[in-house]
Amino acid sequence: MSPKAINKIRAKLGAASVITDPGPEYASDKWFAKGVPAAVVFPSTTEETAFVMREASKAGISVTPRGAGYGYVGGCTPVEGGIVICMDRMNRILEINGRDFVAVVQPGVITGELQEAVRAQNLFYPPDPASLKDCSIGGNIATNAGGPRCLKYGVTRHYILGLTVVLPDGSIVVCGGRTHKNKTGFDLVVVQEALVGLVHGASSDLAGAGAASTSTAGVGEVDALLFSGVEDVLIVGNLDGLVEALCLADEGDLVGSHGRD
Ligand SMILES: Cc1cc2nc3c(=O)[nH]c(=O)nc-3n(C[C@H](O)[C@H](O)[C@H](O)COP(=O)(O)OP(=O)(O)OC[C@H]3O[C@@H](n4cnc5c(N)ncnc54)[C@H](O)[C@@H]3O)c2cc1C
Repeated sequence: MSPKAINKIRAKLGAASVITDPGPEYASDKWFAKGVPAAVVFPSTTEETAFVMREASKAGISVTPRGAGYGYVGGCTPVEGGIVICMDRMNRILEINGRDFVAVVQPGVITGELQEAVRAQNLFYPPDPASLKDCSIGGNIATNAGGPRCLKYGVTRHYILGLTVVLPDGSIVVCGGRTHKNKTGFDLVVVQEALVGLVHGASSDLAGAGAASTSTAGVGEVDALLFSGVEDVLIVGNLDGLVEALCLADEGDLVGSHGRD
């Protein structure tokens, strides 16, 4: 791999943000596939991620995004070596807004921590992969993760309002946005269960927790929601419509969410 490209990335991000002798912790997820990267970088901003992507693209170096490394299919395994972009430092919850039920998060936020944070504000983020205490919102978006609650509430993509995405050439694209009525371009980014580009941020839809009584087995307590991946991700969803479509909610469910405009 081009030492020139790595040196440029190190000069831009700082020596503490680039590892060139990575240990086995960056070689795989929870599956058996392994691949040792030549370097692991830890961007702190969307612009830093864009810089890495641009330099890697120019040098022909493969890039593998890494969230928390809790996938089960080797998705974050750098099978071709190259650079692993790790989202560990992009781990801030930027906003939780109980007035319009939107949260804005960075991609490295741990899903369970987001759920706890929104629960503290009497809100609810439904997606509940079994790995929620360890996996990240960015990984959830990339894999469209869902757990038992998806039977009633839907999966991760139903709660995403917008994404900031870094494309392979380093350009930054904002899809959707922070408002509920803004989906322009979003469906071009999240396609089925694949994600084009590197998620750097997300905004998500939060339901009122006081609203939800949990009468359906397996749903558990009502929490709150959110997630992210390339720079800032916006997560939101139409909880009412989803529940009605699934015909699984009883009349006592989600009462609070009906109170929002
Ligand atoms: C014990 C256990 C239980 C699990 N239970 C469930 C479950 O119930 N439901 C379920 O759906 N999954 C489950 N999984 C799988 C895993 O938790 C999910 O796939 C989760 O979304 C992975 O998140 P992560 O942050 O660990 O992502 P990683 O494993 O780090 O990455 C997963 C994929 O996302 C990509 N990625 C990560 N971050 C970004 C980003 N910012 N931008 C672009 N791409 C990115 C990676 O390149 C990779 O392709 C489970 C896994 C384990 C180990």
